[in-house]
Amino acid sequence: MDKLTILREKFGYSSFRPGQEEVIDSILEGTDALAVMPTGAGKSLCYQIPALILEGMTIVISPLISLMKDQVNALKTAGCGAAFLNSSLNGSEYARTMNQIMSGKIKLLYIAPERLQREDMSEFSANSIPLVVVDEAHCVSQWGHDFRTSYLQIARFIRSIDPRPVVAAFTATATMNVRDDIRKLLALRAPLCVNTGFDRPNLYFEVQKPKDKKTALLECLEKRKDTSGIIYCATRKTVDETCRLLASRGFNATRYHAGLDDGERRTNQDDFIYDRKTVMVATNAFGMGIDKSNVSFVIHYNMPKNIESYYQEAGRAGRDGSPADCVLLYNGQDVRINQYLITHDEDGEAANEKLQAHNLELLKQMTFYAAGNDCLRKRLLGYFGEKTSSSCGNCSNCLTEFKEIDVTVPAQKIVSCVYRLKQRGRSFGKTMIIDILRGSKNEKIRRFGFDTLSTYAIMADTSAQRIRLILDCLIDKGILLLEEGEYPVVTLGNAEDLFREEERVLMKLPEEREKAAPEKTSQQKYEKILDIQNAPGIKTSQDSGAKSSVTQNMSDDIDNDLLGKLKKLRKEIAAKESVPSYIVFTDASLRDMCRKKPVSLVQFSGVNGVGSVKLEKYGEIFTDLIREHCGE
Ligand code: ADP
Ligand code: MG
Repeated sequence: MDKLTILREKFGYSSFRPGQEEVIDSILEGTDALAVMPTGAGKSLCYQIPALILEGMTIVISPLISLMKDQVNALKTAGCGAAFLNSSLNGSEYARTMNQIMSGKIKLLYIAPERLQREDMSEFSANSIPLVVVDEAHCVSQWGHDFRTSYLQIARFIRSIDPRPVVAAFTATATMNVRDDIRKLLALRAPLCVNTGFDRPNLYFEVQKPKDKKTALLECLEKRKDTSGIIYCATRKTVDETCRLLASRGFNATRYHAGLDDGERRTNQDDFIYDRKTVMVATNAFGMGIDKSNVSFVIHYNMPKNIESYYQEAGRAGRDGSPADCVLLYNGQDVRINQYLITHDEDGEAANEKLQAHNLELLKQMTFYAAGNDCLRKRLLGYFGEKTSSSCGNCSNCLTEFKEIDVTVPAQKIVSCVYRLKQRGRSFGKTMIIDILRGSKNEKIRRFGFDTLSTYAIMADTSAQRIRLILDCLIDKGILLLEEGEYPVVTLGNAEDLFREEERVLMKLPEEREKAAPEKTSQQKYEKILDIQNAPGIKTSQDSGAKSSVTQNMSDDIDNDLLGKLKKLRKEIAAKESVPSYIVFTDASLRDMCRKKPVSLVQFSGVNGVGSVKLEKYGEIFTDLIREHCGE
């Protein structure tokens, strides 16, 4: 069979995605390949199709056990001979797999890198090995975020195979350092390098700067009830606390981190993959190799330490191309914690000053993403060296109107407040300053007698959130200083100019809700309100209006009733076959069914993701349901 027939027959897709065909052709011609493609772009097909065409058995080196099980499941469901060797197999399973290998039935063999030294390749000698695939190839590089020593053995393993097979490396990590390392450390020979571009148009990016992350998280989840998603936290402790919080609020959540024993980790991961639990709360230990395609949101409760990690983790949403959300809950604390972690690295990396400086620089880039006002997608892609238009229209910054505003007067008020406090011989953190300016009646303020300050309540009609934004801007500009300590306090910086007439302070702020706009129609006013609610700087409890309209745009009038029925049927089948739902069909396939409403097998074969095996296996039962739904 040729590549296009396999694509259609085995995988049920009508056409290749960008980059796939080049990589397949290169491998088939005997040229090494290095493919850099974002998560969800379809890297697996790039080597699975050649593996099915080439004589012999392809070896796929892949870092995580869960991934292998998944991929092998998916391949078997599509009717392809595949197996894996890793530490999860018991003696008899291992023997059975070896038998299958010897008999030449296996076209794709997945192996964990740790096993390369152990497996005796001469045992496979019944098979020729035309192709070695290195998935998640960035693991070979120290500059990457998932370095694994076992990956350094791969080059030697390849050398041990005679004749030398074609080598194809795949990763979603695009930075130069990492790419160079892959080429060198895997000893690729004049590889074809494919870089498809990093944009994932179906992902919506959002940054929130909430005062209280817990509340913000609960609001986020409330909006996304019944959909599946991941919440990443920086520490095991935060994972445990957050998971407990969610459970107490009735969310169907489970957790994953390296502190749990193997058994619980596996159970929890399976619960999530098989949709028995809808929310996974985890550290970054979770996810690499999780190919669950129906993850419809990824929320970062803490900011990761660099953009690469963020994009990789966030990219686990929407793998099947359906619209999905990536939300970062950010506050300044995140930066300080990461700084601490980088400079106090326990692995002894701290000793490597060059690496540390490099990591601090990466953290700075991440902070710009979180704190900035410009298009989030532009920032992300810019980091990977891609130029884009200045506004993507599908991120929280693009959907928020920012205006350059003269904030000289409020700035003077804030600085005066800090000055008055200093006159009384005290410095305080941001919250106290904001409370004084807004005229809070809290106990501490009365105890200190701050309600008698001349600056007390002079900004009573400005939201705390907005005062905080201006305060941060003043710190940014050096007009105020944030003195680090056990409790960071705000002190005076270069503030004299502010009180001379000529010094104006300009900053970009999300537009504040207007109190009255008599000249506008009510519809315009309504749109305005929706806009404002989207501003990350402004705290409202409502749903973000513009966001849901984007999702609607992308999901083009799906028959939700039918979608629900299809999902239920899929779940029943998956349970019967003991595979995750998305192995039966991805969400994208079900959506396509809702769009095309196929009532015959011929029509069904035209659905995205329906190949000949799935057509035969599921065609009847699904078209029956669709026919019934359409009232025939
Ligand atoms: P990656 O490894 O690059 O993150 P995968 O190989 O897991 O991505 O593929 C992501 C999803 O895209 C899978 O559900 C896969 O079946 C689907 N896919 C891959 N290639 C195509 C294609 N040509 N057309 C439609 N869907 C595709
Ligand atoms: Mg992959």
